[in-house]
Amino acid sequence: QSQELSQARIDYHTALLALQEYGTRMVCTGKMHTDRICRFDYLCYCTEAEEFVFFHSNSSFMLPNLGPRRFQPALLDLSSVEDHNTQYFNFLELPAAALKFMPKPVFVPDVTLILNRFNPDNLMHVFHDDLLPIFYTMQQYSDLDDEARLVFMEGWSEGAHFDLYRLLSSKQPLLKEQLRNFGKLMCFTKSYVGLSKMTTWYQYGFVQPQGPKANILVSGNEIRQFSSSLMEKLNITTRGGEKSPAEEKDEYIVVFSRSINRLILNEAELILALAQEFQMRAVTVSLEEQTFPSIVKVISGASILVSMHGAQLVSSLFLSRGAVVVELFPYAVNPEQYTPYKTLASLPGMDLQYVAWRNMVEENSVAYPERPWEQGGIAHLDKEEQEHILASKEVPRHLCCRNPEWLYRIYQDTIVDIPSLLEALRATVKTKPNLKKAKPASTVHPGQVREPQCQTSVQATNEAKLTVSWQIPWNLKYLKVREVKYEVWIQEQGENTYMPYILPHQNYTFSENIKPFTTYLVWVRCIFNKNLLGPFADVLTCRT
Ligand code: UDP
Repeated sequence: QSQELSQARIDYHTALLALQEYGTRMVCTGKMHTDRICRFDYLCYCTEAEEFVFFHSNSSFMLPNLGPRRFQPALLDLSSVEDHNTQYFNFLELPAAALKFMPKPVFVPDVTLILNRFNPDNLMHVFHDDLLPIFYTMQQYSDLDDEARLVFMEGWSEGAHFDLYRLLSSKQPLLKEQLRNFGKLMCFTKSYVGLSKMTTWYQYGFVQPQGPKANILVSGNEIRQFSSSLMEKLNITTRGGEKSPAEEKDEYIVVFSRSINRLILNEAELILALAQEFQMRAVTVSLEEQTFPSIVKVISGASILVSMHGAQLVSSLFLSRGAVVVELFPYAVNPEQYTPYKTLASLPGMDLQYVAWRNMVEENSVAYPERPWEQGGIAHLDKEEQEHILASKEVPRHLCCRNPEWLYRIYQDTIVDIPSLLEALRATVKTKPNLKKAKPASTVHPGQVREPQCQTSVQATNEAKLTVSWQIPWNLKYLKVREVKYEVWIQEQGENTYMPYILPHQNYTFSENIKPFTTYLVWVRCIFNKNLLGPFADVLTCRT
């Protein structure tokens, strides 16, 4: 690996002079530590102290220059998980003159993205917290290309899914523990620090019970662009889009099973029942038995994916449009409170159908009170607490991550009650999955309506008319839109309510509720296909 960071590629002497003369330079985006990504020239890392170092010289700069606020609480989040106090990034400062007394720096010539993986042993965390954010942070900065070097500073070893991280760039990612192999002082010629949080959709419950993020900024399109890119790198050809008649006949169901814990105890029966119900073949996959790429290949062609709640369900981001996700929950676990996969499936444009099923029959559940606490054991708790948990019919809302009642219930095995599952499926799966060829719906929004105008007339002392007219949005003439409607809001000046109207044409004369000698404010906007709203045109002021 030392070979890979070949010093021959840059002139070592020139780099050293540049570092001594210019020191470190930093410019960041973001107003807060939670939305900040910083770009550095000559950011260094001292492997003995395990600290990043900013070298001040006459031509250094640091934007934002926060003074001591840089420690309140940190310059930025090094993982994509918001404001987690184990994931902060900061650096020490030194004068560049100190370099004379320090070990000779080793320069990293690659453009580097420095970040923390959040939980690299859990597949959901791998995709949601790391792979998607890394992928789109790299899209954000054009010099973070296929030749970029990823550096993972969280301190974990490679972990079970390191091959997935390797797909993001052609260079081997570096782990924190490997940095010391390069020397005592490493200097990154050009680096970015931090991750975009734009693609994350779920918060894990560190400060409030887990749930979808308050302001989701990603749509199914970006998720699907990411998964296609990954599948391309894995040499998996999609069957998305038009299917050949043979493929259409060969629809199938995938049961993603867990073989270590949270088992489906009647898996064979479940598979038979599903195959019978949908008249399709059904196959199982598990992380213990298949490689991840082979699982992706199977899932990308599936019509229905069935699985117990758990990280393996993040693989639904490889399902094709129109497919169905069926998430099974153990006894006493309320599906509405644990929705990372429901939220994913329901992102606009993800175009997946989602069904949750919950075991309501305690006898169909097998729990493991004697296991270690992290696998849901409760033997370590006092009697009273154990009895309370055993008597409870639903885990109350709780914070992450060590709630014993939650762990006890979520690690139960389940005998799936087939009739109740099929009933849930029939109630939700309206269209036969995938048969209605799912094409991406248009997401093109209307522009502003043009040349909005109003004309008024007074008929009598208590009768007036208000005619509003406008031209179509400019982009409409280039589009095929199924349904074009207009929305008009009319507000009497000074009042704080308004009347909304949905109209099919480009003009309308209002006479009801229109008073003579009154000023009305009128807003007009265009709507495509019922839910694609355009912006309002400038407000009209209309006096009758
Ligand atoms: N896992 C697995 N088979 C099992 C149990 C777990 O492959 O029988 C995987 C799971 O997909 C995840 C990791 O091990 O990637 C951690 O599982 P855990 O139960 O801790 O987390 P959860 O699935 O509840 O998120």
